[in-house]
Amino acid sequence: MSAPTPEPGTGSPAGTAIALDLTGRTALVTGAAGGIGRACALRLAAAGARVRAVDRAADGLAALAEEAAAIPGLPGTVVPETLDLTDLDAAEAVAAGTDILVNNAGIQLVRPLEEFPPEVFHTVLTVMLEAPFRLIRGALPHMYAQGWGRIVNISSVHGLRASPYKSAYVAAKHGLEGLSKTAALEGAPHGVTSNCVCPGYVRTPLVERQIADQAAAHGLPEDRVLTEVLLRDSALKRLIEPAEVAEAVLYLCTPGAAFVTGTSLTLDGGWTAH
Ligand code: NAD
Repeated sequence: MSAPTPEPGTGSPAGTAIALDLTGRTALVTGAAGGIGRACALRLAAAGARVRAVDRAADGLAALAEEAAAIPGLPGTVVPETLDLTDLDAAEAVAAGTDILVNNAGIQLVRPLEEFPPEVFHTVLTVMLEAPFRLIRGALPHMYAQGWGRIVNISSVHGLRASPYKSAYVAAKHGLEGLSKTAALEGAPHGVTSNCVCPGYVRTPLVERQIADQAAAHGLPEDRVLTEVLLRDSALKRLIEPAEVAEAVLYLCTPGAAFVTGTSLTLDGGWTAH
């Protein structure tokens, strides 16, 4: 499996970087300490944005801020803000004043329905659906006042398709798709777009952590999980890189995407073409 070559300073796959100047814009990215959120924070900062990186993992945020500060000539900045999004009042408050909101934080548990712990179901829905609602609610007054805003919700193929043993995750992502469409309808008269980005399996810690659970749930050895479970329905037989997802997020913030709202940009290697 070969990874695309990152372009210096952007983390973008070579030859695909979008030119966009976000100087003067503030972007808030949740779940920014690792994986897709980290890639989005660096990409938006490479486009000039002042990025507020929110996560419960303070160490990961500090490492991200250090990494950003060490990139020569990075046009934007990355400011770490430690927050657990299960504190919904704090989540709503932190979103005030942002021009771009990337709802990305997420968690996963792979377990059959009859064994799925109800308290974990509740937490997944809180972090991945209720917190995005509260963050959008907190962000809209500023976006409406200035007549411009971009909401990008990191959904998943699992916002469009179900897989066994992922009841909470699939429910949360399907809910996020509905929330995003509603925000698009309400935001349109105010210059605010809202869209989902729906990746297939991305090379991140969230995926690495579920290999053992998937192996147990499907009764397979771990080395067969990637090809026989995760990539079974993908026409492109590789994981997608976080930087490729970040490029799609950036696209939705470009002037060329001003008419794109209420939709889902699917990056699934052909999974949903079946
Ligand atoms: P990740 O585990 O690498 O990163 C998720 C981040 O969210 C972590 O830094 C974690 O600390 C943070 N987070 C979790 N709970 C939080 C909370 N209560 N408060 C604050 N921060 C919290 O995962 P990732 O793969 O980068 O996933 C990011 C998003 O992309 C998720 O919404 C996920 O569902 C989605 N996604 C991932 C994949 C994939 O294959 N990795 C595919 C499709 C969609």
